[in-house]
Amino acid sequence: MPEFNNKAMYKLSYGLFVCTAVQGDKKNGCIINTAVQVASDPNTISIAVNKANYTHDMIKETKTCNISVISKEAKFDLFKHFGFQSGRDVDKFSPEYPSSSYAMADNGIPYIIEGTNAYFSLNVKQEVDLGSHTLFICEPAFMTVLSDVQSCTYEFYQSDIKPKPQAVGTTPKGETVWRCTICGYEYVGEDLPDDFICPICKHGKDDFEKIIR
Ligand code: FE
Repeated sequence: MPEFNNKAMYKLSYGLFVCTAVQGDKKNGCIINTAVQVASDPNTISIAVNKANYTHDMIKETKTCNISVISKEAKFDLFKHFGFQSGRDVDKFSPEYPSSSYAMADNGIPYIIEGTNAYFSLNVKQEVDLGSHTLFICEPAFMTVLSDVQSCTYEFYQSDIKPKPQAVGTTPKGETVWRCTICGYEYVGEDLPDDFICPICKHGKDDFEKIIR
């Protein structure tokens, strides 16, 4: 009999999306991999958003968001900008973020035009509490195609967009530091647990390198 193997989870395929929301003066966005068409009549799209994301709270309050579909032309910077920092700490639409990267939709929420191939404006119809995430079941109010470049899957991001981790150093005496090669987060301790997930960028142990001090 086959044994239980949770790596089966890695065989599921996902797209990647920038989910944007506006509440009052605050514009924000995060990266999600969970936008799916779940019904055709009426046309229905579900998105699951991690409750730790500030964008989650904004969607819960305002019941609306935009989904920009990330294409294979997206740069790693897009993932860093929207995925590796929180809207609680930074303004992701500050003047430093180039205005050529996004446009405003009719619903007053930005959508991303650089490294994307379509966007949807969604209105939340139902919510389901799933523990770590809230599932928002949405009706598209608008949708359009922005480019014919293929969509970026999670697999393509892992193989072609994410920088390759650097070699791991040798074990030092004394303090050992493991640094996330993706975002720079540092973990202090001799052993990094196998199931460790970077609290900043959510990458796993394979993306950490051992640093000698
Ligand atoms: Fe990280």
